[in-house]
Amino acid sequence: MAYTSLSQIQDAIKKTETNIEKLVRNYLSNIETNRDLNAFLEVFEAESIQRAQALDAKFARGEQMGRLFGLVIGLKDNICYKDHKVSASSKILEGFESIYSSTAVERLLSEDAIILGRLNCDEFAMGSSTENSAFGNVLNPIDRTRVPGGSSGGSAAAVKADLCHATLGSDTGGSIRQPASFCDIVGFKPTYGRISRHGLIAYSSSFDQIGPFTKSVEDTKAIYEAIAGRDEFDATTSAKPIHAVHPKKTTYKIAYFPEVLNSEGVSAEVKEACQDFLKKAKEQGHEIVEYSFKYLDYLIPIYYVLTTAEASSNLARFDGVKYGYRSKDANDLEELYVRSRSEGFGPEVKRRIMLGTFVLSAGYYDAYYTKAQKVRRILRDEMSKLLTDCDFLFTPTCPSVPFKFGDKTSNPIEMYFADIFTVLANIVGMPAISLPLYKNAAGLPMGMQLMSHSWEEEKLFDFGMDLMEKIK
Ligand code: GLN
Repeated sequence: MAYTSLSQIQDAIKKTETNIEKLVRNYLSNIETNRDLNAFLEVFEAESIQRAQALDAKFARGEQMGRLFGLVIGLKDNICYKDHKVSASSKILEGFESIYSSTAVERLLSEDAIILGRLNCDEFAMGSSTENSAFGNVLNPIDRTRVPGGSSGGSAAAVKADLCHATLGSDTGGSIRQPASFCDIVGFKPTYGRISRHGLIAYSSSFDQIGPFTKSVEDTKAIYEAIAGRDEFDATTSAKPIHAVHPKKTTYKIAYFPEVLNSEGVSAEVKEACQDFLKKAKEQGHEIVEYSFKYLDYLIPIYYVLTTAEASSNLARFDGVKYGYRSKDANDLEELYVRSRSEGFGPEVKRRIMLGTFVLSAGYYDAYYTKAQKVRRILRDEMSKLLTDCDFLFTPTCPSVPFKFGDKTSNPIEMYFADIFTVLANIVGMPAISLPLYKNAAGLPMGMQLMSHSWEEEKLFDFGMDLMEKIK
């Protein structure tokens, strides 16, 4: 049976209807029958079974179990787990093993979760379809001719296909929420600084956050609460209480941008779903307010100027000397760098390193990088004002249902447009959740996104749970 929440699993274990080893074996057999999805790059089979047996024994002894016992979880291949390989789905990290665990992993393990393996993604988390992995495409379990979204495509596909109960991904501009929308599950990005980035391979450090993929908001909350909070290894983490009390409300004030519903790039069926959402929310007593947003066209350019700038700096460390892949044909140091990087990185990563190097270069720094930082500030102020006045901003998660393989690979700009609604939350550092609320006539999913002010994750979960009951 496919469980939709961890509490169901824990109840079943307590009633001895199942045990942790059976759960693990069941996922392993699902992985085997769904090999074609290419979601897992590596499965930690033997050690997961061993850990399951040890946890079953702990349970049988009547010991106090961790909050996440019974949770079998997979990691996006950019989250470090000590003594296990990690490659960011890149050839350049060939053979590399983590020498320490990320804080998120440490916290999962200390709550008795089991880490089942590492999941395919776009190389260095750059992409929206998982077509940029050095290890092949991940198929969408809902329709295998379509992409699962990206960059955390393996993480999303694995949850949808029940290859494990939940997964972790990373979200720099939508890489959790967009694939969650494409695979019809819940995806969540916390406030910047809520979950430690220690042990997450950096793409764009002022945007990156780790977050969960689950089938229910309840599980998102449980995993988030276990891994969030201050961490001495990441100076950008906040000590603000995770369980901040929000005045419990039954009705909320929800803003939406009319520009989204009028945008040419948004498909008719997504617009229709949004209208339906707003209508139902109103019928349920929520206040809906229209808020004109004149910056929609600037979001993608701001995002790509700033993230590629940070990426060009973060990825400088992969030089063929310190990590992974080293070209065999180099005659001197300069050539070693050039060849190792040319052979080790894929085309999208190279494109972004070059773009980022360009926007940071002496003659163009002010025109691009400084300007984009200024607009980032304006957007932050604007959203802060909006989300002080309203509880949530509502948008679709994506402009369309999942597209077919190859549809957008020839035009990077078209691919970048897939993130138009998700990048805002990262630009301004606020939390956002994608909820699997709608499907088109062909059964293809359309996630709906809610964003709240910083540090209001619990409010997002409260309303998210409500919506999953009342709208789904
Ligand atoms: N798809 C976006 C990009 O290509 C977002 C990636 C991410 O969130 N890691 O950059």
